[in-house]
Amino acid sequence: MVIAEIKRLEEIKEMLKDYKKVLNVGCAGCTAVCLAGGQKEVDNLNTKLSLSFKGDNIPFEIEGFTVERQCEVQFLAELDGMVKSYDALLSMACGAGIQFLAERYPETPVFPAVNSTFVGVNKDIGWYEERCKCCGDCVLGSSDDRCAESATGADEFIPTGISVDMRADVGLSSAQHQRRPGIEEWGTDELGGYAGTVK
Ligand code: SF4
Ligand code: SF4
Repeated sequence: MVIAEIKRLEEIKEMLKDYKKVLNVGCAGCTAVCLAGGQKEVDNLNTKLSLSFKGDNIPFEIEGFTVERQCEVQFLAELDGMVKSYDALLSMACGAGIQFLAERYPETPVFPAVNSTFVGVNKDIGWYEERCKCCGDCVLGSSDDRCAESATGADEFIPTGISVDMRADVGLSSAQHQRRPGIEEWGTDELGGYAGTVK
């Protein structure tokens, strides 16, 4: 699946500052599984944006809707009756989903809320490891089933469920991928993704 991370709040605000009514579109595919762009993340981000713009005394309204996959036309079609009501769309899918959304609604500005980081596997809760760089010439059958393009020699961790902003709070740079300390307990959210409670 595609692994992604949520952009800094200030970066998202800068993109949206000229729009008064925005629809944040989540993806229940990859970015929901890696806790970057499912319905839960849509709700959390919308709350943060609303509070932040309110604190700046800037009129701003945001609503959320999560489609099954933003890279499939039949799921995007669910948005057809809604998009006209908004000044702009924010997408929490990977880059493919964001572009597909923008193609379908060329009259409406579309902005990315996440950075796609790599194609990887979900080794454990909150533990994502890069396995493919989509090189277009797969050699896995003749390379001990190890991908030299993406092998890092070490496990890569993404702090589960936290954004670039939150990483900074716990002292991680955006380039670091580590298991986040202090995760207390785990469950499954309403969309089937993992949800963690952090101390
Ligand atoms: S739009 Fe991107 S994140 Fe969503 S399911 Fe498709 S590939 Fe995965
Ligand atoms: S060789 Fe590695 S990067 Fe290329 S397609 Fe195969 S797994 Fe992906």
